[in-house]
Amino acid sequence: MKSIIVFLWFFVVFFIESTLTTPVYGNNPALSTIDFTPEERSYIEKTSSIKMCIDPDWTPFEIINNKGEHEGIAADLIQLVAQRVGLKIELYPVKTWEESLSASKSKQCQIMSFLNQTPARDQWLIFTDPVFFDPNIIITREEHSFIGDLKGLKNESVALPRGTMVEERIRRDYPNLKVILTKSESEAIALVSEKKASLTIRSLIIAAYSIKKEGLFNLKISGQIPEYTNQLRIGILKEETILRNILDKGVKTITPQEREAISNKNVSINIQQGINYSLALKALMGGSLLLGLVFYWNRKLSTLNKKLELLSITDRLTGLFNRIKIDSTFQEQIAHSQRSRKFFSVILLDIDHFKSVNDTYGHQTGDIVLTEVAHILQNNTRKTDIVGRWGGEEFIIICPNTNSKQAISLAESLRRLLQAHEFPITKSQTASFGVATYQKEDQSKDIVGRADTALYLAKNKGRNCVEFQ
Ligand code: GH3
Ligand code: MG
Ligand code: MG
Repeated sequence: MKSIIVFLWFFVVFFIESTLTTPVYGNNPALSTIDFTPEERSYIEKTSSIKMCIDPDWTPFEIINNKGEHEGIAADLIQLVAQRVGLKIELYPVKTWEESLSASKSKQCQIMSFLNQTPARDQWLIFTDPVFFDPNIIITREEHSFIGDLKGLKNESVALPRGTMVEERIRRDYPNLKVILTKSESEAIALVSEKKASLTIRSLIIAAYSIKKEGLFNLKISGQIPEYTNQLRIGILKEETILRNILDKGVKTITPQEREAISNKNVSINIQQGINYSLALKALMGGSLLLGLVFYWNRKLSTLNKKLELLSITDRLTGLFNRIKIDSTFQEQIAHSQRSRKFFSVILLDIDHFKSVNDTYGHQTGDIVLTEVAHILQNNTRKTDIVGRWGGEEFIIICPNTNSKQAISLAESLRRLLQAHEFPITKSQTASFGVATYQKEDQSKDIVGRADTALYLAKNKGRNCVEFQ
């Protein structure tokens, strides 16, 4: 069933894409002139500019940047349309999307840049053909199972920004879900991450962008809603039919290649990579592409999920593992030691007088020192050792199959390496080390507790030394 939906979804996308790829204007629309009616020509001639309302906070689709300009995928596409039809488009400045909606309803702007067509919006707007396609995906926390159909969920809540197409449709199509309204997409994501909502729905483009820019910790893509693929269009006030027809002619000149180039310029992850639409369509007609498409979609999901997973166990500043990964490594090592009676050891280290680095040279220099220490630890331990950031200026190394003597010796060599290293700006830097080795019946808090006591001893002995407990 899922394969069929994926197949149909791709088919619909390809179908719409292919209708747009074979416009009346031939293969190079930029060179051909648009066939306007006399009425449309006279409209263009006598119109000095068109006022446009946008969503000021919808990266990478569109934002109002700090110079007050329209920026993003929508901005680039609209500019292209405006250029092709010979109209000047002027931004109507707002702070929120809701402000834009009410400005549009009260006719203060003639067009809305980039939105899905919905029955509610049909009340006052008419639309061009889609300018851009973007599927919607379901985002949950890591532990949530795959969602084949949202209808199957019971007692779950969905966080959604107020006033969007998805909000409108989810309320109608999935009354089983409790909707929690938010002010923004990032607030919706935060609610899921903080367990205040079970899921949110987000565009694939935005999710891909966020993975790169924000990091979506503890979150994964749990499914997709093919029928919710965003078909983003220009919305025009109902009475402005001539303007709609003009813009529609402009939209029809945009090629898939142009759309792809614009989306790649604004989103560094190349979502559409590897898909050649006309080739794909031919293969589809040959009936052999179904498996390929399913595979492609699954691979895309799995790549995104792998990126999310890696981000969720990585410390953002140093690139080392974070507490989440260290905690799970402890569980694995303890289980392994209980089974095999092998040892593992833990080295905890804390940079000496680090506060004075921040106080003297600033927080940024502090960050550089932390990153440099992380590299030294990473480059001078075995592949099997797990190096992590324990917090602040404390680091931890879990060394599998390592007894106390070997661990103390590794700690001592790392201590010497740090002492001898010339750090940028601060020059010299030392650290104190506490070492502990697994003992029968240990839980992670026991072994970490002993390493911590050893570290405390090392600090008390005057720092820049190794102690064992
Ligand atoms: P000691 O030798 O006793 O460990 O002294 P210390 O100054 O290193 O220890 P203290 O706990 O007093 O200060 C730790 C400092 O580390 C304070 C905190 O602002 C700083 N710190 C924690 N995390 C970061 C970070 O991510 N970046 C920077 N630049 N500083 C951080
Ligand atoms: Mg400390
Ligand atoms: Mg310290």
